Amino acid sequence: MPGKHTVGIDLGGTKILAIVVSPKLKVLARSKCKTKSELGIDGTGRRMKEASEEALKEAGLSWKDVESIGIAVPSAIDPDTGDALHSPALGWINQPLRKRFQQIFRKKIFLENDVNCGTLAEFRAGAAKGYGTVVGYFVGTGLGGGIIINGKLHTGVRGSAGELGHEIIEYRGRKCGCGKLGCIEAYCSKTAFCRQFHRLIVEEGGKSLISEYTDNNFKGIKSSVLLKCFKAKDKMTQKVIEKGFYFLGLAAANQASIIAPECIVFGGGVVEAFQKSVMPYIRKGFTENLFALSPDDIKLKLSVLGDDAVPVGAAIYAMEKGEV
Ligand SMILES: [Zn+2]
Repeated sequence: MPGKHTVGIDLGGTKILAIVVSPKLKVLARSKCKTKSELGIDGTGRRMKEASEEALKEAGLSWKDVESIGIAVPSAIDPDTGDALHSPALGWINQPLRKRFQQIFRKKIFLENDVNCGTLAEFRAGAAKGYGTVVGYFVGTGLGGGIIINGKLHTGVRGSAGELGHEIIEYRGRKCGCGKLGCIEAYCSKTAFCRQFHRLIVEEGGKSLISEYTDNNFKGIKSSVLLKCFKAKDKMTQKVIEKGFYFLGLAAANQASIIAPECIVFGGGVVEAFQKSVMPYIRKGFTENLFALSPDDIKLKLSVLGDDAVPVGAAIYAMEKGEV
């Protein structure tokens, strides 16, 4: 039956994850591949199409069963045009992504910011289901955020709302990838953790189990390695993780005094690996810095959709033709 299913794609800096979703938001199949953004927009578009076709095949479907495609991208979306022109994470500047992808897929395409999609999915079908106002934090290579207000995705001027990773939590603090100083992303993200290990071990001569797993090359430490060292009670790893997630709790408390959400969801690759072992740190940072509200007023929850959150959110966005 045509027009019944939706393809949702997470176009990340390193990997593409394509899924097929039923009208009732059931994930029927998935397919993953490397992004290779150096192939350019058309090359990457073709890789996304191949991954989608693999997932469709696995689900026993074809393109004629698909009405639209939602693609989650690491960039802001212009609310007037529905297009993204810049994606520094993928190295693309001044290119109409949606237009180019539409030419490759020959289907209606909806683009939305990746973490907005993740938050939307948790709100509709995951940890924050049933709440009206929700904030999402996704800790991966960077730190992304998403905001739902009274059941609607809040995208703001030029689609740039919810960039919660770039809230400054320390005046003239650590340098962030965005060029500013003291952003929360510079304290709680994989990039931040890697930099911390480099500083503590290479510059300050500290000792850590991390060295054994990384050959003293601290770029791109895997979440699984961080977890291994954390579980082995490596002091430095515990300190880095504890501080990072305490600060994330503090940042969440700041947002609580602005948005007062009923629920805050934490997800992304690092949280996915650590699961509830980071919650005590988040909770401590949150409780100690919360204003006017009681910590019981706001539910702090872990993502339940994991890797599927972003592509499921992209599919929801497409199903509802961007009217979320
Ligand atoms: Zn920043």
